[in-house]
Amino acid sequence: MNKDHEFYMHRCVALGILAGHRGDSPVGSVIVKDGHIIGEGIEGGKTNMDITFHAEIEAIRHATHALKSQDLSDCTLYTTHEPCIMCSYVIRHAKINTVVMGMTTGEIGGYSSLYPILKDTSIKHWGTPPTIITGILEDHCRGLHK
Ligand SMILES: [Zn+2]
Repeated sequence: MNKDHEFYMHRCVALGILAGHRGDSPVGSVIVKDGHIIGEGIEGGKTNMDITFHAEIEAIRHATHALKSQDLSDCTLYTTHEPCIMCSYVIRHAKINTVVMGMTTGEIGGYSSLYPILKDTSIKHWGTPPTIITGILEDHCRGLHK
């Protein structure tokens, strides 16, 4: 199981490197369903001059197009960095089952900040919060900033 987590996180790190090379924050994300990557996201907020091009949202866009459904409840999101508050809203809307992150980000994160949207249980139509797994290839993810 942990080996699988590392396998998909390595792909996220590779996507994060691509983002960094083009001048964006070095964040990469993938969506996995039944052992297959069905969506990939490369951070592109600066490239596109549009804050909504976060890697997690890009991965979700690709996955919803692949599945022709906005319900990603059988999917796992892997991402190098803790999803931000904006991405966490989209993750909850898509009902993603499990979120695996390399490193937490603190104050703008949707898990470890004062706005832990990923853990919220007060918004009924979001259902059960996703399972959260942190610290997968954390050193690799932190290394993206060097
Ligand atoms: Zn985000």
